Amino acid sequence: MSLTAALSPDVLAKYQPVIGLEVHVQLLTQTKAFCGCINRYGGEPNTHVCPVCLGLPGALPVLNRQAVEFAVLASKALNLTINEESIFARKNYFYPDSPKGYQISQFDRPLAENGWMDVSDGKGGTRRIGITRLHMEEDAGKSIHDGFADSARSTYIDLNRCGTPLVEIVSEPDLRTPEEAYEYLTKLKEILLYTGVSDCNMEEGSLRCDANVSVMLKGAAEYGTKAEVKNVNSFRFIREAIHFEIERQIEVVESGARVVQESRLYNSAEGRTYSMRSKEAAHDYRYFPEPDLPALFVDNAWMTKILADLPELPEARRARMIADYDLTAQDAATFANTRSFADAFEAAAKTAKSPKRVANLILGELVGRLNAAGLELSQSPVSMQGIVQAADLVEDGKLSSKQLKGLFDIAFEKSEDFAAVYEREKPQQISDTGAIEAMIDEVIAANPKQVEQFKGGKTTVSAFFVGQVMRLSKGQANPALLNELVMKKLNAA
Ligand code: ADP
Ligand code: ZN
Ligand code: MG
Repeated sequence: MSLTAALSPDVLAKYQPVIGLEVHVQLLTQTKAFCGCINRYGGEPNTHVCPVCLGLPGALPVLNRQAVEFAVLASKALNLTINEESIFARKNYFYPDSPKGYQISQFDRPLAENGWMDVSDGKGGTRRIGITRLHMEEDAGKSIHDGFADSARSTYIDLNRCGTPLVEIVSEPDLRTPEEAYEYLTKLKEILLYTGVSDCNMEEGSLRCDANVSVMLKGAAEYGTKAEVKNVNSFRFIREAIHFEIERQIEVVESGARVVQESRLYNSAEGRTYSMRSKEAAHDYRYFPEPDLPALFVDNAWMTKILADLPELPEARRARMIADYDLTAQDAATFANTRSFADAFEAAAKTAKSPKRVANLILGELVGRLNAAGLELSQSPVSMQGIVQAADLVEDGKLSSKQLKGLFDIAFEKSEDFAAVYEREKPQQISDTGAIEAMIDEVIAANPKQVEQFKGGKTTVSAFFVGQVMRLSKGQANPALLNELVMKKLNAA
């Protein structure tokens, strides 16, 4: 990455970066936050609108119950304390994409406060990042800038997004590296997807992040002045923008100047941030309680009802999957990263003779083929039931793993039921004890060194003999019988 003029490692090492993130997340409700308009991305401009979200005089907001329920779920999943009573406030500012002249938000009494998320500390442990608050608010519309030559430039306003329910999740300035910030965001997104409150689609703007960055001399009593990087549309770019910002600020301080408190924009093509030099310099939003909405009460009974829908969260699920199905941490993570993937695996694993084999089959045979074909799991030509059939056939010793691969290819290409492919193809299997024993003898005779290792106590070399005989049999030896006979022969050798 090309950043600013190179700073020496010695100089870099003198400074401690400090990072806090503000994340806006659109909620997946049917309708908007305070009116009955459909809450959906896109559409003909200015068609998903009504007097309330257009801010016409006299129109009154009514709070969307589903939006509250989603915000409560997200809060709980992020370990926040939910306030029984919270207050909506007007944040006053003028901008063309917000016709009311204010945004309904929450200010000094937000829905939830004092949460946390753990990130890895890079030494095998974890570090706890504080989450200051989660509050509810509404999105603004969009300005669409058109035309290239200055003379031909026009700006259009699309208010379809106006009034889309949002939560803003604010972290404490507890993050210390761009990598930690990246992990925080990745985990946050995973948790929000699990709870089903948002689709977190960054391209469509359902999840947006502002990164606050400052630097201070290590051991200093106070944080440095922060700059806020806005409008970055991928986690990778946020990580790069923070990298750049840290080095830029260290250069500023090293040169004897001061970091200016300001908003900055990240240009991903150049890998730099630029000052916005904007109106926001000394903003006074003149917050006051929203007179058109009563206080929000989430009493115990409602809370209990909402939280009944809280799913098992990714971290807990990974741990349980390792224990329940004897998966490696890596495999459990692969499944648990996406709730639907984990659900599909678990549903299949419960009906199979060996859940571990189901996992191996999905990760070893299915995922690679799906990726190569550019297909989602939900579009898989081999059903989960087919995976279970295949796993059970292997488990029963009716198929060697080589034969399995061949049949899997056919099932995948023809979108056929795995059991049907097996019945038709019925691959040759050698189950004649004498024939298998003859091959084992041949392999044992050819590999005296490995036999010695086995005798010396390294019993795992039996897998070597099984593999060699399997090859000799062109993958046709009955695997269960082969295993049994190899052990018998080796023990007798
Ligand atoms: P402001 O009043 O400018 O909005 P806040 O105190 O509300 O600032 O914090 C906004 C975000 O900036 C939070 O995520 C917080 O963790 C982060 N933040 C605050 N101070 C610093 C700092 N010195 N360096 C980095 N991030 C900071
Ligand atoms: Zn509306
Ligand atoms: Mg603030």
